[in-house]
Amino acid sequence: MADDETPQGLPEPPPPGASALPSGTFDGTAVLVTGAGTGLGKGIAREFARLGASIVIASRKQENLDAGRAAIEELGAPVETAICDIRDPESISAMLDSAVAAFGTPQVCVNNAAANFPVPAEDMSPNAWRAVVDVTLNGTFFVAREFARRHLAAKTPASIINVGASYAWTGGPGFAHSAAAKAGVKNMVESLAVEWGPYGIQVNGLVPGLIPHEDMTADITANLQRADPEKDLLQPAMRVGTRREFGWAATFLASPYARFITGHTLVVDGANWQRRFMTNPTVVPIRDQMNRGPFNPEG
Ligand code: NAP
Repeated sequence: MADDETPQGLPEPPPPGASALPSGTFDGTAVLVTGAGTGLGKGIAREFARLGASIVIASRKQENLDAGRAAIEELGAPVETAICDIRDPESISAMLDSAVAAFGTPQVCVNNAAANFPVPAEDMSPNAWRAVVDVTLNGTFFVAREFARRHLAAKTPASIINVGASYAWTGGPGFAHSAAAKAGVKNMVESLAVEWGPYGIQVNGLVPGLIPHEDMTADITANLQRADPEKDLLQPAMRVGTRREFGWAATFLASPYARFITGHTLVVDGANWQRRFMTNPTVVPIRDQMNRGPFNPEG
């Protein structure tokens, strides 16, 4: 496509450091973000921190917690980190106890941690299936449950945001385990919002599109590298998303300005998941997309 015919796509967002919400929106508010030592979780935590929040980061690896701490301290915000495996309810309880000791009970919980890797379904071991479902679906529920129980007992309002994925609606070839788990996460948002709304607890979902970051897994990096951004129209927005755009959406959903929004899942992906082609594009089997040879039941 010639330069002068190239559509412009969606405009670029305001620069890093900008905020959509009034300064101090989260002053005095503790915000728990699971998996915030890396990637999108770190981006979400930073946007809450810019708006005055104290941040609690929970994940398994000390090096990720250290990276998350540094990213928040750089903004001058208070931060507490806790080793936590969200598959383990006791670990979640201990993590929340340490959060309470640091800042009081967090009022916002962003369930961002998840596990994922691409594999054709027929090659997926039962353990691989269990591992992804256990972190992404079970872990998300266990954190939401423990967080909500504390607010229900204290009769205090709160906000939960579960990070999802668009293949919750569409399915995701190569990601049968993660897509099924994220479909469960989206569905859970709707059940929990109705159950806990009467007690002042909002529950929403938030779905990212393709948002590059330094902690991306090899499959996402390969997806980005397969196309030439100068000539390939990769998605309707004509650009990828930025972490701050995803973080801004999270801060809005948890803010006082979104109090009547609950049970909703917001997709921040420039409409990429809704695109269709007038003619049927070529079907490329997942094994070919992943450069795997023919199925070998012994393999
Ligand atoms: P990421 O960098 O791989 O982050 C995942 C985080 O989860 C890590 O910080 C990891 O920390 C934590 N984690 C994994 N297992 C855990 C466990 N058992 N207990 C506690 N923490 C655990 O991924 P990301 O790209 O930022 O994605 C963040 C969220 O967005 C995920 O929910 C993902 O499914 C969703 N998403 C991302 C994309 C994308 O393009 N990046 C697209 C769709 C959806 P430790 O290793 O320290 O535990």
